[in-house]
Amino acid sequence: MKPESLLERNLRILVIDDNPAIHDDLKKILLGRGTEDSALIADESLLFDTQEPAPTTGFEVESAYQGQEGLAMVEKRMAAGLPYALAFVDVRMPPGWDGIETILRLWQADPDLQIVICTAYSDYSWSDIRTKLGSSENLLILKKPFDNIEVIQLAHALTRKWLVSRQAQIKLDDLDAVVALRTRELQRANEALTQEFSERSKAEQAFRTIFEASPIAISLLDRDLNFVDANAAMQRLHGVSHEKLLGMRLPDLAWFSSEQEARQMFSPGGSAILDQQEITVPAGPLDKRTALLWARPVDVHGVPRIICFVLDITERKLMESKLREAQREAEEAARAKSEFLANMSHEIRTPLHGMLGLCAVLNDETLPDHLRSMAKLIQTSGDVLCHIVDDILDFSKIESGKLELEAEQFDVRDSLRWSVDVFQTAAKEKKIDLNLRIDPKLPGRVIGDSTRFQQILTNLISNAIKFTDRGSVNVDSQLLSSADASVALRPNECVLRFTVTDSGIGIPPEKLEHIFGSFNQVDASTTRRFGGTGLGLAISSRLVQAMGGAMEVESTPGRGSAFSFTVRLVAADNESEKRNVVAPAETAAKRILVVEDNPINQIVTQRLLQHMGHSPTVVSDGQSAIAEVQSSPYDVVLMDLHMPDLDGREVTRHIRNLSAACSQIPIIALTASATVQDRRECLAAGMNDYLTKPFTVDALATVLQRWSAVADRSR
Ligand code: ADP
Repeated sequence: MKPESLLERNLRILVIDDNPAIHDDLKKILLGRGTEDSALIADESLLFDTQEPAPTTGFEVESAYQGQEGLAMVEKRMAAGLPYALAFVDVRMPPGWDGIETILRLWQADPDLQIVICTAYSDYSWSDIRTKLGSSENLLILKKPFDNIEVIQLAHALTRKWLVSRQAQIKLDDLDAVVALRTRELQRANEALTQEFSERSKAEQAFRTIFEASPIAISLLDRDLNFVDANAAMQRLHGVSHEKLLGMRLPDLAWFSSEQEARQMFSPGGSAILDQQEITVPAGPLDKRTALLWARPVDVHGVPRIICFVLDITERKLMESKLREAQREAEEAARAKSEFLANMSHEIRTPLHGMLGLCAVLNDETLPDHLRSMAKLIQTSGDVLCHIVDDILDFSKIESGKLELEAEQFDVRDSLRWSVDVFQTAAKEKKIDLNLRIDPKLPGRVIGDSTRFQQILTNLISNAIKFTDRGSVNVDSQLLSSADASVALRPNECVLRFTVTDSGIGIPPEKLEHIFGSFNQVDASTTRRFGGTGLGLAISSRLVQAMGGAMEVESTPGRGSAFSFTVRLVAADNESEKRNVVAPAETAAKRILVVEDNPINQIVTQRLLQHMGHSPTVVSDGQSAIAEVQSSPYDVVLMDLHMPDLDGREVTRHIRNLSAACSQIPIIALTASATVQDRRECLAAGMNDYLTKPFTVDALATVLQRWSAVADRSR
């Protein structure tokens, strides 16, 4: 907006004339206060509709006598911001510029200046003046001599015109500014719109590309479940062209069993939200595919739509079912393998039992020395074979994750002593010292699997003796603190460390890292020299892991090895388990019933028992056994498990159900099946103990002592 001052009335008038009398006349007219002036002013009020009472003229009249002087005064006023509104200019002003030239110069300085040309002669015709000055609306001609009224009317009219045109100009300028501002705003809005449009069209393009290239079938539905768009994958999946799809409705595709179900699923009008809905998609006339469907309500350019994603999972389903089938087959194969191994183990153990039992009998008979040593060799070979069978069975159980550990009370010190004692003879034969150090802090009784614990120890001691030709083998035991074991222990839990150190051949460093792997032997010559399957350490280290510990080895070739392992056990309360602490009974002759169908094993068991001073009776089937215990008094029954008709467990159940006192007779299972499961079943059937075939004379003696003592006490 312009300053207010520019919109005020401008009554400044310049008179340019070389004749001073004209100046006097004009000033008299313009500034004078005569009655005719008052009337003129009143006329002006009427003419311009001013409210105020008629003032004095208010004109300021200044004089210049030459064109140049006049121009200088106009320029000065312009510079001061107080321009003239009107100039009266004489035409003839010798010797300087004439009026026409002066006017041209004045308008160059101030184009808004209103000019009245005063002329007495016709120096210039009207058309000359127009030709020279152009047809300006700011120019009027006043013929001399002046008419007073005409002059004052002109002065009022032209100063007023100056103001009006100035106001109009200012308004025009303001309008221009507003227009420019609006234009800029519109330009900016236009640019923003163009930008938004371009981004939106880019986003739409990107969406379109994704939509078309997506391997997942995508389609758009309207509220009535008509297809309004579908991508290429959707067309491929249904084997239908784009055009055809757009003429179809969702129920036509038979994703759902009925139109009603489809409508329920999609609840048109809004909440069509589906996630991973499994559907069957007809693909072509014969094929059917399985797919997952997702659906969401969307707004496309203000129109509510439903977007559907369909993922074909037919191949995946097929693969899953093949995988399930393969897994089932693998499990079946693993089960068949375990069964086969268990059967093989049973089948091998049965004749082995015969061989080893007869060897034991032969050993105790009076045999010539050369035959005794041969019988001893047969016994050793049988032991080795037995060991191999055990290793293979154990290994297969570990591999198939079927290794089970017993949780029974046992005395760690006894187990340690037993494991070392077993090898004293072998150590003596090799002239090696075999020493045992028992940590006095070791707990007495613990809960764990004593058989497996002894298996680990005996494997390490056996290896140590096997690979040591001179020096010693030391077995050490130690109770670890929770800090030493680096584990948090529960109440009553303890970690024990056992170390078997030898001064034998040692193991090269590069072989050490594989030593606990299966079928690993340091070199082939070792195998030839010492025998073995290369499974012992693998089995032992897995057993140790199953007992919550770890096995380690340190070794220097030529100087010896130290194998150590930890086990995590629970210390048992002092209530000792009867089974292990029953005092050995007298070795008095006992009446023993042997139930065994295998003729060789009948002889073996019978001869062993006779040799031990007992008087066995042998029956070869379950029915005879049941009849026998009822007809004669027996101290103990040794019961084979696998027999035709009634097996050992069934026979035991029958005996336990008898009303007579014989129902409580101790029954010991003789089994060639070495699995924990078998043993559990024996005990569950009511048997008191079990002996795994092939058993040693000592094992037979121990178990007989244990149970005949119980029988004696219960009488
Ligand atoms: P194997 O039945 O063959 O003895 P192991 O798994 O018990 O199987 O032992 C694997 C191999 O580790 C052995 O063949 C032997 O080469 C080496 N080894 C084990 N213990 C010792 C030891 N105390 N001294 C030297 N070598 C040993």
